[in-house]
Parts: sequence; structure tokens; C-alpha cells
Amino acid sequence: MKKDDCIFCKLANGEIPTNTIYEDDDFRVFLDAAPATKGHCLIVPKEHYDNLAELDDEVGAKVIPLAKKMMKLLKEKLSWDGFNLIQNNGRIAGQTVFHFHMHLIPRYTDDGQNFDMKPSEPEEGALQAVLKEIVS
Ligand code: AMP
Ligand code: ZN
Repeated sequence: MKKDDCIFCKLANGEIPTNTIYEDDDFRVFLDAAPATKGHCLIVPKEHYDNLAELDDEVGAKVIPLAKKMMKLLKEKLSWDGFNLIQNNGRIAGQTVFHFHMHLIPRYTDDGQNFDMKPSEPEEGALQAVLKEIVS
């Protein structure tokens, strides 16, 4: 299904032009309009899913193989030094466009970006308590 008021539905289906590097029946991969680094792309399915939780399993199964293929293409063409895959779900997690997408972000020495997590030092027993909440 497409969603009428969704910009990524329009971009993925070619209703609005994009800088496309790859397209198939299920996906379009195009340059992010506000790239974090040179070659920053988005993998966007042609059907609308709000986020990862809503993503169709069959379409979802194709995302990582496609990411791998694009990563290799970008290595060949742009010679990146490292690579981040980022996929945001929900406003608090940084999602601004509510149509599932995955960021492909080539990394270069001294590119000035930093996606590092802030590590914490859990109190004694804290991890076990969380584990119990999740698996019980
Ligand atoms: P997120 O914050 O994970 O939802 O990412 C949304 C991304 O979409 C951002 O990196 C934007 O720069 C990008 N974006 C938004 N509109 C467009 C557009 N028209 N063409 C290309 N990229 C876009
Ligand atoms: Zn959409």
C-alpha cells in the first residue's frame, strides 16, 4: 500500500525525482538530500510501512542483502574507510520520516561525524533485572 501524504512513497515510486543509485521492484536507493557524509544513501521500500515493526517480512528479508550490495558498490566507487547502517524508529530515536528506511553511511577518516553510543556502567544486578523483565 502507498500512503497519500507520504513523501517517501512518492520518492520511492518515482513521483518525485531522486538521485537514484539503484532501483528494483521492491526498493529505491537514493542519495540523502542532507548527507552526513559523501555517498549517504537511503534504502526505501516502494510500499509504505511506518517503521521496522510494520515492515513486511518478505520485503524485510531483502533489506540486508541489498544493503550489502550497495555497501560494496559504494566501496568500489567512493573507497570508504568504514560504513554505518542506521535505521531509526520513532521520533525519540531520530526518525523524522515515518516510512521505513535504512541509512547507508559511508565513513571516511576525519569525516567529522560521530554516531558513537554513550556507554554506561550498570549497578550490580541491573542487567539481570532487565533480563528478567524481557524474558519472563
Ligand atoms: P530519519 O531521520 O531516519 O527519518 O531520516 C530521514 C532522512 O531523509 C534524513 O536524513 C533526510 O535528510 C532525508 N530526506 C528527507 N527528505 C528527503 C528528500 N526529499 N530527498 C532525499 N532525502 C530526504
Ligand atoms: Zn510512505
